[in-house]
Amino acid sequence: MSDLLKLTAAQAVEALGRGDVDAGELHSLYRERAAGETINSYVSVGDPLVPDAAGKPLAGVPIAVKDLFCVEGIETRACSKILTGYIPPYTATAIARLQDAGASYLGKTNMDEFAMGSSNENSAFGAVQNPWDPTRVPGGSSGGSAAAVAAGLAPWATGTDTGGSIRQPAAFCGLVGLKPTYGAISRYGMIAFASSLDQAGPITRDVTDAALMLKYMQGRDEMDSTSTGMTEDVMMPSSESLAGKKFAIPAPIDWNGVQPGVKEVFDLACKRIEAAGGEIVEVPLPHADYALSAYYVIAPAEASANLSRFDGVRFGERAADPTGLTDMYERTRGDGFGPEVKRRIMLGTYALSSGYYDAYYNRAQQVRTKILEDYAAAFSSCDFIITPTAPSVAFGIGEKTDDPLAMYLGDLFTVPVSLAGLPAISVPAGLATSDGSAAAEPGADGALPVGLQIVAPHFRENALLEAAYVFEQATEFADGPWTWAGS
Ligand code: GLN
Repeated sequence: MSDLLKLTAAQAVEALGRGDVDAGELHSLYRERAAGETINSYVSVGDPLVPDAAGKPLAGVPIAVKDLFCVEGIETRACSKILTGYIPPYTATAIARLQDAGASYLGKTNMDEFAMGSSNENSAFGAVQNPWDPTRVPGGSSGGSAAAVAAGLAPWATGTDTGGSIRQPAAFCGLVGLKPTYGAISRYGMIAFASSLDQAGPITRDVTDAALMLKYMQGRDEMDSTSTGMTEDVMMPSSESLAGKKFAIPAPIDWNGVQPGVKEVFDLACKRIEAAGGEIVEVPLPHADYALSAYYVIAPAEASANLSRFDGVRFGERAADPTGLTDMYERTRGDGFGPEVKRRIMLGTYALSSGYYDAYYNRAQQVRTKILEDYAAAFSSCDFIITPTAPSVAFGIGEKTDDPLAMYLGDLFTVPVSLAGLPAISVPAGLATSDGSAAAEPGADGALPVGLQIVAPHFRENALLEAAYVFEQATEFADGPWTWAGS
């Protein structure tokens, strides 16, 4: 295996800066691995040529990009059939900023169609295999990004998170995933799912890389009126202790829906937080139980409005030989959208229809406000809130495809945070047996990663990254499959 593959993005930046590593060689290595992969994590691979990044802060480190981000001149489909052939004339701000900082573009990664899903199985390009176990999903919707990083097919990747799509795949693949505060990163050029929730962010091997990517992705953008940028400069984390920090477990968590192995790893994580000087407390989040219901009204409602633009006229595919306008719309959309996207459009349209608007959409918005207030109250008595990132380890491909509700229930820890627009990170916390029945030792046969979710107040990403960094240092975790994958 090439030693270059072992470098995190931050380490690669240093090595490139010292001249120990050649940017072209690093790019070719990853590009060839991406082109020859077998887990379906990429949907397209970019140019073999590396732009000159000498002297720039990211020095030519290659980056994989979720297919939700527009990249000028490169087919961008959000992994939907309806966007076949759509080539954007501009690049999403978040990606343009990374490129301006010297990141080289590797390729587009697979995802759930329009980011709707938790398993990457709702993709027009097919399912992605989890590098830890090819019979399992990598999580979703940013499943291709997480699988690519975990398999050593990219040093790091961008993701997007509406209700957990960065954090959950990071947890399932043994990686770090950061969903920044809503507004920290521009949404311009991101294909919209639910605009009041969508947020871009990093999927990386470690916390330092997450900080580094955030640093160059964030910022106010004239093209996105909801973007504010970070309120403080993003710092590289370096803390050694959690002394004086209070970590709150939202009480009560209903552990019935959580695999015992996940709970065990979470309990061990709490012990490690205490050993590093942190204090574990409890806080009430009385409305968190309603978050899933509210999310699965609000997100589909916004999606139904956002996806109305895909009508066969302006973007992508159009049905052949239409007999009239309505026929063209109906057949374009009927043929172009996959079943989960259609389900969301119907749910959302229903929730917004006159007569039901107050009962569903308005009620869900009221719940959202209550959840926001719960968090504000909680953060008056703690610094961070912690939960497992997901209630299970990575599940089998096909295991939940016939049961959308079971799929939605897997989002129970990530969705409340999204409704409140708070920053949250998933950090590898340990391993559990493949059936989720117990915690497992690093290196144990068939063991799968479990993530710890840490949530912070709005725009406290620096504090969040520091806490996650200390936790990471205190945690013995398998290096990840990229140490053995491929060459
Ligand atoms: N799994 C959630 C959903 O299906 C979240 C997806 C996301 O964050 N994009 O809506």
